Amino acid sequence: MNSGAVLTIDFAALAANYRRIRAQVAPAAVAGVVKADGYGLGAIEVARTLMREGCEHLFVALVGEASALIPALDGPASVYVLNGLLPGQEDECLAAGAIPVLNSLDQAQRWAATAARANRRLPAVVQVDTGMARMGMETWEIDAFLADPTFAERLDLRLVMSHLACGDMPQNPSNAQQYARMSALAERFAGVPVALDNSAGSFLPRGHFAMVRAGIAVYGGAPNDAPNPMAPVVALTIPIAQLRTIPAGAGVGYGLTFHTERETRIATIPMGYADGWPRCLGNTGSVFIAGTRVPIVGRVSMDSITLDVTDIAPEHLYPGAPVEILGPHQSIDDVARDAGTISYEILTQLSRRYHRIHLGLPEASTSGASAATTRSPSA
Ligand SMILES: *Cc1c(COP(=O)(O)O)cnc(C)c1O
Repeated sequence: MNSGAVLTIDFAALAANYRRIRAQVAPAAVAGVVKADGYGLGAIEVARTLMREGCEHLFVALVGEASALIPALDGPASVYVLNGLLPGQEDECLAAGAIPVLNSLDQAQRWAATAARANRRLPAVVQVDTGMARMGMETWEIDAFLADPTFAERLDLRLVMSHLACGDMPQNPSNAQQYARMSALAERFAGVPVALDNSAGSFLPRGHFAMVRAGIAVYGGAPNDAPNPMAPVVALTIPIAQLRTIPAGAGVGYGLTFHTERETRIATIPMGYADGWPRCLGNTGSVFIAGTRVPIVGRVSMDSITLDVTDIAPEHLYPGAPVEILGPHQSIDDVARDAGTISYEILTQLSRRYHRIHLGLPEASTSGASAATTRSPSA
């Protein structure tokens, strides 16, 4: 499985990003969002790093993610399930010790029934829809939830939350609308802590209620269109597999979609769309060699990509020579822009075939986590 690609994940930078957001939103607490295996970087390692910074709240998307994560944690943290409870998942959620985000009256009823069966109050979060129409209770469901005292008896409501539709567009009027709706709903859920903001919302110039849920900015992605204040967390390099020189007028790759206009030096690297590198970067994206931009030419294949390295000095071109895919010259946001997507998609698709090096990962204090994969920065 070894293409020679090396994905370096800098957990010290991740911790610094967490502290940066905490300073930004204080006195609000900062929960870490570690769904989708910590945006592809390793939920257990990310959680361990954040908990070392004092983070006590973690969000995953699925009950199964919670039941995998919780036994691997080396301390106490509340683990919340954003997608809530699909029918039939109540017992797994209970057994895992996870806290479901109740997104509908139906989910609240099933969790309250689970509490009755378990003969104890169960912790829960209620999500309300303040204007995104994705998840969360609608007005009639909130009314019904608050009107029925059995919910208050059976459920220990830890948080009432909602989610911004346009937090990364600070000027969008929906941000103020959602904030106002959340403020009004907070009064109806008297005494329950409130959380509205994601990474982008954490950078809006207003209050942040009791808690924010930070994902992408912790992982180094830009929270909005302003210059990115976060430290990069990932770097990816891969060696050149093969070099050739082809004449003017030759075609490159599937469909021969690139035609040379001059004698051209082509380098092939052993990664492709099977590694999560978007196929749409064919004839569009870039990589860097010795700090110089190198265009991707031809289509991105499943396991290989062709580069026009004609303008690169020969001493940097040999089989095994390093190519920067992500690093000081190209961020996850740069790649996302070229691919017409968002940094989240680039991160969560990063290949499991890359060799991973963990920098600055705190040692596990129990045997639960994988200390064997840890390397110190000097390694
Ligand atoms: C994924 C998610 C977050 C984290 O969002 P980022 O933009 O990555 O900070 C927060 N809240 C909810 C409900 C989410 O689904």
